[in-house]
Amino acid sequence: MPNMSDQRFFTRLTWLLFALVTLLIGLTLRQNLKQIENLYQSDTLNSAIHLRDQFKKIEVFLEAMRGQAEERLRSDPQSTLTRQLYRQIQQQPDKGLVLDTLPANLPAGLAGNLTGAGPLPPPGSEREARIHLALSLSPLLGTASQHLGKEIAWVYFTGVDDFIYLYPWLPSSQFQFSSSVYDKHYWQDAVMSPNPTKTTILSRPYEDFAGLGTMVTMSQPLYKDGALVGMISMDVLLARLQQQLEQLTPALGEYLLLNQYHQVLASSVREPVIPGDLAPSRQYRWRQGALQLTLAIPDTPLLLVHKVTLLPLAWTMLGQSAPTLLAILFMLLAALSNLRSHRLNQRLNYLSCHDALTGAFNRHYLVQQEQAGELARLRAGILMFDADHFKRVNDHFGHAVGDIVLIRLVQICQQHLGPSDRLIRWGGEEFLLLIGQGDASRLSDIAERLRSAVANHDWAAIESGLIVTISLGYHPHQAHLPLHEAVRRADVALYQAKANGRNRCERWQGDAS
Ligand code: GH3
Ligand code: MG
Ligand code: MG
Repeated sequence: MPNMSDQRFFTRLTWLLFALVTLLIGLTLRQNLKQIENLYQSDTLNSAIHLRDQFKKIEVFLEAMRGQAEERLRSDPQSTLTRQLYRQIQQQPDKGLVLDTLPANLPAGLAGNLTGAGPLPPPGSEREARIHLALSLSPLLGTASQHLGKEIAWVYFTGVDDFIYLYPWLPSSQFQFSSSVYDKHYWQDAVMSPNPTKTTILSRPYEDFAGLGTMVTMSQPLYKDGALVGMISMDVLLARLQQQLEQLTPALGEYLLLNQYHQVLASSVREPVIPGDLAPSRQYRWRQGALQLTLAIPDTPLLLVHKVTLLPLAWTMLGQSAPTLLAILFMLLAALSNLRSHRLNQRLNYLSCHDALTGAFNRHYLVQQEQAGELARLRAGILMFDADHFKRVNDHFGHAVGDIVLIRLVQICQQHLGPSDRLIRWGGEEFLLLIGQGDASRLSDIAERLRSAVANHDWAAIESGLIVTISLGYHPHQAHLPLHEAVRRADVALYQAKANGRNRCERWQGDAS
């Protein structure tokens, strides 16, 4: 058999190959994951910037209106327009505080409807001044509504003293002020906000009073001498946010838009699951079995989450890495088949040089070595031995026992060989030994040691009554003597040993005449 260390070497090589291929696949997938992360990271950043711009667009108008309102608070809130609109309210005192009829000469789309609780305020009162303040915002409310178009549903000023000025105009039959507005999120969230005068306050989602759907309100409170006067607000429908988010949604994964209370405002999937960990980071992280990037949208209280679950991610990675993975696979197959054919070659080589029964070299090996010039280098002494009366062994104990004896003979013999010695099964139960090093006395030593080792072996352990001996003939190394002649001489010596009674060693003494 090919030797064990060769087999171990091939097994190790195969494992090494598998390890190398696993490493290569791992590196390829890792690289691929990095590419996907980089691509979608910049995609998500762009989406966040886009959403920030939308938010800013609305905020700019809110700030402009607050600026103008503050200016009016410092001067006189009344103007020709506000007086004209106020007169319209005064014309229907039975209806209370309602601007249901607009002046005929007023250009369309300039004013909204002001509705409020209770009767008209007494002339010169604070409340009357605040109503004028609200009405003075008309041109800005109109401009904001025109510019922002579909982005917003309503623009309005809510006074602290029970009135609301709502744009675009809607008859009071469809919307009328109710003090319940002060319980609504847009008012509560703004009033409770820790720094209400500086930033735009985004409310929690709530249902529109006029039935347009779920919306959030962006508000800027208005203060005079530290006291709240009213709130300038714009409503954004969640359906509109949803549309915007769907337009931004990337090919892989889903988007979630969350507010400061971690409520979902919009999402690209039907039933979004709110992630457990919403700490913003600029890198993707594994969260609840999905790759997740959480970005705080700059200058807003909003969070944009990009989430990619494992299965679509794996498919994308496999799709993108397919050419590399296939190349690695082909490389592995080629290497494995190479290894296999190498092992096969080794085995064939072994079989062609070894005797199948005993594992000793065969004659083909000797021919090969002779042709390769190896024997000349070996400077071999030749020793031949043959089992004595082997026919009897076969006859008495059977052919199978004869086979075992041959195997055992080789094992005993190999225990006495050096690294440069070669044992060759010459034929039947006859063996040739090439002794690589040493002179005639070493040769006779080895011959005698082999003889006695065989003769003293416990053959009865194989079959009771079994006795095996061998006869040996040898011829020491002689320069320029052809191999076949050296073998012939050893054979003559072996014949002599048989003739002299067997179980003995003889050196070639010359040919009998
Ligand atoms: P001698 O002492 O003169 O050598 O007598 P011998 O009986 O050993 O005579 P010989 O060497 O001529 O006999 C060889 C016998 O070995 C003949 C054959 O049946 C047997 N033999 C050859 N090859 C094998 C083998 O592979 N297995 C077995 N069991 N027997 C074999
Ligand atoms: Mg024999
Ligand atoms: Mg024989």
